[in-house]
Parts: sequence; C-alpha cells; structure tokens
Amino acid sequence: MSKKILVTGGAGFLGSHLCERLLAQGHDVLCVDNYFTGSKDNILHLMNNPKFEIMRHDVTFPLYVEVDEIYNLACPASPVHYQFDPVQTTKTSVHGAINMLGLAKRVKARILQASTSEVYGDPEIHPQTEDYWGKVNPIGIRSCYDEGKRCAETLFFDYWRQHALEIKVVRIFNTYGPRMHPNDGRVVSNFIVQALKGEDITIYGDGQQTRSFCYVDDLVEAMIRMMECRADFTGPVNIGNPGEFSMLQLADLVIKLTGSKSKIVYRALPQDDPKQRRPDISLATLELDWQPNIQLEAGLKNTIAHFALRI
Ligand code: NAD
Ligand code: UDP
Repeated sequence: MSKKILVTGGAGFLGSHLCERLLAQGHDVLCVDNYFTGSKDNILHLMNNPKFEIMRHDVTFPLYVEVDEIYNLACPASPVHYQFDPVQTTKTSVHGAINMLGLAKRVKARILQASTSEVYGDPEIHPQTEDYWGKVNPIGIRSCYDEGKRCAETLFFDYWRQHALEIKVVRIFNTYGPRMHPNDGRVVSNFIVQALKGEDITIYGDGQQTRSFCYVDDLVEAMIRMMECRADFTGPVNIGNPGEFSMLQLADLVIKLTGSKSKIVYRALPQDDPKQRRPDISLATLELDWQPNIQLEAGLKNTIAHFALRI
C-alpha cells in the first residue's frame, strides 16, 4: 500500500538514499531539510518524480503536514559539522525530536529515530549490545551530538509510554557510501578524497582505534524493515556491520583500492575519540531478519568510484 512518508534530513547522505528507496517502493515522499549539511545535488535525480516533494524547513521549528510515517534523520552527523554550531546541534536533536514527535502524535504516524552508536560513548563493553547504557562525557566537544541523541531517545520512549505513540529507534554505527559530503571530515570520505588527490592520509592518534563500517544500502534496508516490523518492537536496535577495522587498516585498504601514492601521516587524536566500536547485531538479525551483505572492500570500491567522478 502506498503511504505518505516524511523524511527529515532527506537531502543528506543517508536521507537521500532512503528517499530514493521509498520512492522506488511507490510511496509519496516529503523530504524536509534546511540544507545545513545536505544539498539539492543529492536529490536532484528524484525531483522529476511526481511522488517526491521537497520543503526547506528547520526541524527546530514546528511542522504542520499530514503524513503516515516519519523517518527523523535531520541532524549533522560528522564531528566537524556538529561541532561547528554545537548549540544548534543539540537543538536539532532535542527540539527537532519534540516537534516531530508532536507531529506524529497529532497525525497518528509511526515515527523512526535515527539514533547513533555515539550513545555508547567510549564504550567499556565490546561489542556493544543495546542494553549497555554507555560511557558518555556530558560536557565535552562531542556531547552536543551524543547527549542530544540520548535525550532524543528519552523523548521517544516518553512519548511511547505517555502517549502510546508507535516509535522505532535505530542506533546507527558508522555508515559510508556515495553522497557522503567530501569535506565533512569523516574518516572514509577523508581517506578516499586524500588518496584520490594524492594528498597525505591523515590518521588521528596511532591509528589503532577501531570502527565498524556499514554500507549505505544495507543500512537503508534495515531502517525500512524496522519501520515496517511489528508495532510492539520499538528498539533500540543496533544497525551496523560487525566487521571491525583499525584506522590504519582502513588507510591501507583505501591506498590499495585507489592505487594511490599517498603517504600516511599522524595527527593529534581529537578529544573523547572512542577507542573501539563494533555493533552486536543479534537483535536486528532476530527481529528484522537482517544482516549486512556488502563487505568493506566492495562498498569502498563503489564509494571510490563515486568520488572519482567528482573531485
Ligand atoms: P548528513 O549530515 O549528510 O545529513 C543530515 C541532514 O540533516 C542534512 O541534509 C542536513 O542539512 C539536515 N539537517 C541538519 N539540521 C537540520 C535541521 N535543524 N532541520 C532540518 N534539516 C536539518 O548526515 P547523515 O550521515 O546522512 O546522517 C543522517 C542521520 O543519521 C543523522 O541523524 C545522524 O545522526 C544519523 N547517523 C548517521 C551515521 C553515519 O555514519 N552516517 C551514524 C549514526 C547516526
Ligand atoms: N579519523 C582519522 N583521520 C581522519 C578522520 C577521522 O584517523 O582524517 C579517525 C577519527 O579520529 C576516529 C575515526 O577515524 O577515530 C572515525 O572518525 P569519524 O569522524 O569518521 O567517525 P566517529 O569518530 O564519529 O566514529
């Protein structure tokens, strides 16, 4: 059945892929974005579709539309961007969640929150399971994002308890792919752009810190499955690829796949940079019958091909 679906942050990296998939399924999609980190270029190819509508709007202000489902993705995701205006970052997560939850309540829409592995902070439990409460610095430079996202989760669960709203919370681990912002400072885009330009590859710290990288198509599949699964499964549920790599391994792989002559250089490790991160995805596998299919090398090849045409 065709639904009217709101995607906030729909002109961003993940949002644009999600809009594309929802349109392919035959839904009407309303993309709401203030273009802080997203861009019209990301959704240009969708604009001729009569089922696609875009609205310039900041989610920290109330929104009055009629929809059946809401995917709430609006929020800058890279440390460089979310630290640019940290007060606005917290507002986007917290006021944005309140506004979108209020909208969901009024129109009785199911609502999904794009939460993050950052709610676990610099974790003491490895791999991270959903019942781990996290180790987050409340006053550091990452806190505007981490605590904003934690508060958004709180709001989602309070609306669920207090107003019986149908909520869905996914905790997304590092995701990469075509349409990442080339200058957003995230490690995959940084390394690929540096390698393609023949510039030095910047490893922060000693490069032994780890991350788990999920390809965007796998993530979008999981988000849609989560939205469509039984009403009483609220999450939070981890979505990510459990393959774990050090930043040094990632740099070597990007150099190999691009055939670049770039050299590795070491820079200071940013404050509160988590040492390790890997999702336990047992819950997603059990509840959503989901696991990622695209492994790092294949996903990086697609991403490199995308950037190679643009820089
Ligand atoms: P992105 O920066 O490409 O997309 C975010 C989008 O939200 C952009 O289009 C931006 O313009 C828009 N936006 C920001 N503030 C807004 C506001 N106040 N009102 C309206 N629109 C606003 O980042 P992304 O990687 O696509 O991330 C999307 C969501 O997924 C974010 O909520 C992020 O926290 C979450 N997430 C992403 C990752 C990842 O690895 N990509 C990991 C964990 C969580
Ligand atoms: N990083 C790096 N070089 C870069 C950019 C990032 O070594 O040019 C490191 C960063 O310090 C972190 C990891 O890569 O340890 C992932 O960083 P990113 O900003 O992509 O995501 P997050 O830290 O939010 O997981």
